[in-house]
Amino acid sequence: MTMKTIGLIGGMSWESSMLYYQIINETVKVRKGGHHSAKSLLYSVDFQEIKDLQHQGNWAEATKIMIEAAQKLEAGGADVIVICTNTMHKMAPEVMNSISIPLLHIADPTAEKIVSDKINKVALLGTAFTMEQPFYKDRLTGQYGLEVVVPDEADRAVVHDIIYHELCLGIINEHSKKKYLDIIDSLIRKGAEAVILGCTEITMLISQEDCTIPVYDTTRLHAEAAVDFCIGDGE
Ligand code: GLU
Repeated sequence: MTMKTIGLIGGMSWESSMLYYQIINETVKVRKGGHHSAKSLLYSVDFQEIKDLQHQGNWAEATKIMIEAAQKLEAGGADVIVICTNTMHKMAPEVMNSISIPLLHIADPTAEKIVSDKINKVALLGTAFTMEQPFYKDRLTGQYGLEVVVPDEADRAVVHDIIYHELCLGIINEHSKKKYLDIIDSLIRKGAEAVILGCTEITMLISQEDCTIPVYDTTRLHAEAAVDFCIGDGE
């Protein structure tokens, strides 16, 4: 069976799109061997435009850009759409309705793994949009029965600012890592049994070795789910 083509909507930021590209191809290589690599298309946006729209609350315009990207990837031959950011799953329903190929929602492989690991109460780190708005948390609670804890307001601002001012620009700072680990500790004190790296750049700063609870890296889980889809069962 020939592999399906993955349509990636990336550039949010390109630092994490690079990780998707790497994980997808490395996983195909491990799974299929030889010189196999993934068939993929990448539609990479200008992140400054997206970041401005997000922070102005102009989600309607941002949704139009995501829909156009998905439709172009479908027209280009993609069999599946992968939006390489958690935040931009805010408009996943609208994107899904505008295409006739599936969209692999980033929260699904993440939540499936958490549920299969028998974890109930999970901490969520991500942009303020992801931590505060219902679009992401509701999927985890409503569809998967998870209990979600997020940092308090001051800590959410710290997590958000480090994402946009450092990680999306490729800046890895030890001091910021310490701040993240302190915030994770405070969430453990609130009963979190695991932590979701619910922003596709956080994996550049925090890894499983840094934490005493299980870490769920949405970048890796989403990229691997894309490979599962394009290789299909039984290969
Ligand atoms: N990549 C980040 C995420 O997973 C943030 C960048 C964005 O706003 O899309 O949410």
